[in-house]
Amino acid sequence: MSKSIAEAARMLAGWLRETRAGVAFTGAGISTESGIADFRSPGGVWSRHRPVMYQDFLADASERQRYWLMRKESAPAFLAAKPNAGHLALARLEAEGRLTAVITQNIDELHQRAGSRRVLEVHGTAMKVHCLSCDKRYTGEEIQTRLEAGEEMPQCDDCGGILKSMTVSFGENLPQDVWQEAARLASECDLFLALGSSLVVHPAAGLPETAASGGARLVIINRDPTPLDSMADLVVHGSIGETMEAVMEQMKAESRKSKVESRKPKAEN
Ligand SMILES: [Zn+2]
Repeated sequence: MSKSIAEAARMLAGWLRETRAGVAFTGAGISTESGIADFRSPGGVWSRHRPVMYQDFLADASERQRYWLMRKESAPAFLAAKPNAGHLALARLEAEGRLTAVITQNIDELHQRAGSRRVLEVHGTAMKVHCLSCDKRYTGEEIQTRLEAGEEMPQCDDCGGILKSMTVSFGENLPQDVWQEAARLASECDLFLALGSSLVVHPAAGLPETAASGGARLVIINRDPTPLDSMADLVVHGSIGETMEAVMEQMKAESRKSKVESRKPKAEN
C-alpha cells in the first residue's frame, strides 16, 4: 500500500540513518519533475517520431538526418532543465555517506549537475556528442548551435566522421561494464531506492529484484504503481521531489534533536 509522504519520510529517514551502502536507481519520473518529458509518454518524442535504429543510423544518411532533426527538437528541453529537489537530495545523501551511487536510466546529466559524483548511466548521456571514428567529444550546446545554424548532419571537425550523441540507441547493445557494476552494487546494497522508474522493462527491473533478494530494503517512489510494489518495504505513489524533501527535513530535525540531547548534562548518580 502506498504511504503518505509524511509517513514515508519518517520511515525512510530512519532507514537512511542506518544504511551503510544505499543505492539509488532513477528513471524518467525524476526528470519529468524538472520539465523533461518522458520520451515514451504520450506527447513524448517516441509518440511523434519512429525511433532511429542504431544499424539504420550507421547505414543510411536519411536516417541520420531524421535523427538530428529529432535531436534538434528535443535538445532545448534537456539543455534548459535544472536539477530538482529529488536530484539534490540524492547528491546530499551521497555526500553524507548514505548512498554509494546513483544508477540512472536518464540521459540528461541532472544528477551530476546536482552534485552526485558516482553516477552510472545505463543508457548513456544526451549531453555529450562524440565522433564514431576518432571519439572526439563535443558538448550538447555546441552541436545544438550547429544544428540551429542549419547543419543537417553534423560531422567531426577533425576527421569528417559520423557524430552521434553518447546515448544508447534502439538496437544498440547496452554498456555491459556499466550494467555489471550496477548489478554488483544492487546485490551488495542494504537499501535500494527506486525513484521514477516504471520497473517494467528488463534489465532495469531486475536491479531492485537483485537488491531485495540480497536482503536490502526496497523503497519505490513513483507516480504510478509498478509491478514490484508488492515486493517493496515502502511504496509512495507521488512526487519524488516532495517526498525526498520531506525525508531530508525529517533527517535534519532528527539530527538537531540528537545534538541537543547529547549536549544535555548527564544526570549524576
Ligand atoms: Zn572524428
